[in-house]
Amino acid sequence: MPTSVLVLGAGFGGLELSSRLSEQLGDAVEVTLIDRSDAFVFGFSKLDVMFGKREPDSVRLRYADLATPHVRFRQETITAIDAGAKRVTTDRGAHEADVLVVALGADYDVPATPGLAEAGHEFYSIPGAEAVREVLPSFSSGTAIVGVCGAPFKCPPAPSETAFLLDEHLRARGVRDAVRIQVVIPFGAPVPPSPATSEAIVARFAERGIEFVPNRRVVSLDPDTREAVLDDGTRLPFDLFLGIPVHRAPAVVVDAGLTEDGWIPVEPRTLATRFPGVYAVGDVTSVGTPKAGVFAEGAARVVADQLIARIRGQEEPPGYDGRAGCYIEFGDEQVARVDVDFFSTPGHPTGTFTAPSAELAADKAAFGSTRRARWFGR
Ligand SMILES: Cc1cc2nc3c(=O)[nH]c(=O)nc-3n(C[C@H](O)[C@H](O)[C@H](O)COP(=O)(O)OP(=O)(O)OC[C@H]3O[C@@H](n4cnc5c(N)ncnc54)[C@H](O)[C@@H]3O)c2cc1C
Repeated sequence: MPTSVLVLGAGFGGLELSSRLSEQLGDAVEVTLIDRSDAFVFGFSKLDVMFGKREPDSVRLRYADLATPHVRFRQETITAIDAGAKRVTTDRGAHEADVLVVALGADYDVPATPGLAEAGHEFYSIPGAEAVREVLPSFSSGTAIVGVCGAPFKCPPAPSETAFLLDEHLRARGVRDAVRIQVVIPFGAPVPPSPATSEAIVARFAERGIEFVPNRRVVSLDPDTREAVLDDGTRLPFDLFLGIPVHRAPAVVVDAGLTEDGWIPVEPRTLATRFPGVYAVGDVTSVGTPKAGVFAEGAARVVADQLIARIRGQEEPPGYDGRAGCYIEFGDEQVARVDVDFFSTPGHPTGTFTAPSAELAADKAAFGSTRRARWFGR
């Protein structure tokens, strides 16, 4: 009998896990991959859509095109998870399997920031990025704030990238001098594990006239006065607010009793939850690495390798090492890279910075196209 694996969520983690199992095990595994959406979109594509660099339709990778022959994709919404029984209920029926992998990512809680929906824009969802794309062309003067409303949040460099791309966009339109850009981040530095990366970002902020407000979080927006209220009571007036909303584990995961302090705790080396045969990877966990696609993918690879070794009767492979490299947009088609190591020195992540260049911009494009080819055959 083939081992049955139920993968919940077809994002970075779910796609990598299913592809690897299918590639390596073929018929020896029966993978069912469930997602409520009909298409996958890279997180960084939201920035391309928002700044008009890509058309919304062109960044959608449809699950109907999945290139994984041994994976059954089901477009269904998961409504309940019984982790003990390794059984899930969806809007279309029920599924159970020998192994369950939760890769449901993080949801956004926009109402947790009063005023955000009325007076500002979140740009972390596709509809949010599309809405900003509509308003940007008519924004030509005043103050723009890129503000983080809660931590943890996906892709810690993304607020800084957004400020650089906004600066580039406004310069291209010849209106940069009429706009003040402020970035509000709840950390002391833009990328805390890598001082060299943070220094380069802060230096580029200064060069581009972008104001950095560290160690502060946006708690609400006042729609009447059009001010962002920070966690120390400071009020910053704005004309355009681009917000990173509060993140939460999907309600179905919380209701299943899988979370502690908001996220799913896992054994860091194996990604195992406290339920036998149930694993969790990516943004939905509190594994100790940032919420980023590259980390979700790395964790998924480790779970896949454990299952492959078990099914083939081989030795247990090495555990998750908490390392990954993230690309960072600096504007003007220049991309930098930070390689971060979260586990080697417990409690003290370290990072290595590679300066922005056109070559790294090409590497980032290749990163996207290799995933597109591997997962979607395109
Ligand atoms: C603006 C922006 C820029 C980013 N840039 C980068 C970058 O440059 N590099 C990088 O590595 N990361 C980047 N990220 C982060 C990256 O997108 C996420 O960290 C990554 O997608 C997480 O992978 P995951 O598999 O954990 O979850 P996801 O990719 O979010 O996948 C979760 C899936 O679960 C599905 N789902 C959720 N609930 C249900 C349900 N009840 N029923 C059915 N399906 C459900 C969702 O539809 C989704 O497809 C960026 C994110 C943003 C927003």
